[in-house]
Formats: sequence, structure tokens, C-alpha cells
Amino acid sequence: MRYLIVSDIHANLAALQSVLNDAPSFDAIWCLGDLVGYGPSPNEVLERLQEFPLVSVMGNHDWGVLGRADPYIFNTDARHALLWTRGELTPENQRFLAGLPVGQKVEDFVLVHASVREPIWEYLLDANAARKSFTFNNFRVALSGHTHIPAVFEWDESTAEARMSPPDWEEPLQLGGRRLIINAGSVGQPRDGDPRAAYGLLDTEAQTFSFHRVAYAVEITQERMRACGMPARLIERLELGR
Ligand code: ZN
Repeated sequence: MRYLIVSDIHANLAALQSVLNDAPSFDAIWCLGDLVGYGPSPNEVLERLQEFPLVSVMGNHDWGVLGRADPYIFNTDARHALLWTRGELTPENQRFLAGLPVGQKVEDFVLVHASVREPIWEYLLDANAARKSFTFNNFRVALSGHTHIPAVFEWDESTAEARMSPPDWEEPLQLGGRRLIINAGSVGQPRDGDPRAAYGLLDTEAQTFSFHRVAYAVEITQERMRACGMPARLIERLELGR
């Protein structure tokens, strides 16, 4: 089976649409949370995703939009977008969002937004943070998002340490018998200095994972954000990829 791996779409329909156009054929979408928040098209993104066979987990922004976390734990800009999104979602889409699991195991892959240890909130930004997940339980391959920065973490059994490496954009990653945490990056708000939408493709027969990037019309999303009164900083960061 071939899975399209997307995360942190953040209600950015133009970015999601570019990914769907760019991706070779796939059997289903696996979405790693933060479907909404920040962006201007929450209903459209949720409806587009549901046109495909879909497994999705819950992200911290989804959680916040549903009112399950105090909005004041989010920064001012994120909180503004979160409260706007809450007012915007149709009852059907609110129900869909509320039904998302916090984590999901499919075959021997674990899907989480943040980390295996703390699926909604923990940021895996370095090998040391990843180490805590590898020792938390015995998953084989975990797929996560949340940081908006594509990365691969590999467990080294002999040293009991995790290694972090940047994605190889040219060569598919061979999963082999290794224990891995793979972050495909963010579709709708990349933060690795590259504003293009990031996504992954997992081939469970070939046992490979490949990282991909595709440009999208950032200005369309920015224009929609202006029209719904989003904070300027959220609008500007999209073209910077920061
Ligand atoms: Zn996010």
C-alpha cells in the first residue's frame, strides 16, 4: 500500500491542493494532526481530506479549537486564529474533528501528532527528546508532525541513543528493520526556511519513505488570511517558511 503522509495543514487549502496534485497515486491519506488553526480555510480542508480514504489523528491546534485546552496556553496570534476557527467550523466538521483519535496504530506504524510519549504536545526537536519516545514503548516506526520541520530520528540499540538527521530529498529512506521516528514536515506552514509545502510517501510493500516538497500559491492563502483578519505575522511567515 502507498500512503500520502501529511501533517500540519493548518487550514491552508492552496498548499493541500498542491500536494494532492503533486503526489503520485496513493491508496489512502495518513494525516498527523493540526488540520486547522492559523489558516483561512478550515471547512474546505476538512472536506477535501474526507474525499479520500483517511486516517487522521488529533493535533494541539485541533484540540484547542475544540475547547479542550485553555486558549491562553497558545501565543496571541495562534489564539486569535484558534478562536476564529472555532466560530467558523460547521457542526459537521466540528464533529469530525472531535472524533479524531489522539494516536492511532496502523499495521506496525504509530501515527501521532507530537510524540509517542505525549501525542498532543511534546516537541521532538533533537535526538535527546526523541530518545524519550524510543524508550517509552517498543514501537517500530512512528510518524509525527508538530515541529513543522522534516527530520528522521533513528534508534541505535547498541548505544541506547537516538540519532537525528535531515531528510534526504533525493533518495527514499529504506525502513529496514530499524526503529524510526519520521517527521514529514508541514503542508501548510513549513518552518525549516523553505516555504514550499512538505509531505511524505510511505510504501509499505517496498518499505520506503520518501520526502517531497512542492511550491504552492502562497499569495492566495495570504489573501484569504487578510480577508478574514488574521494577524500580519501569521500571513508574512508563510512566504518565509519560518
Ligand atoms: Zn502545527
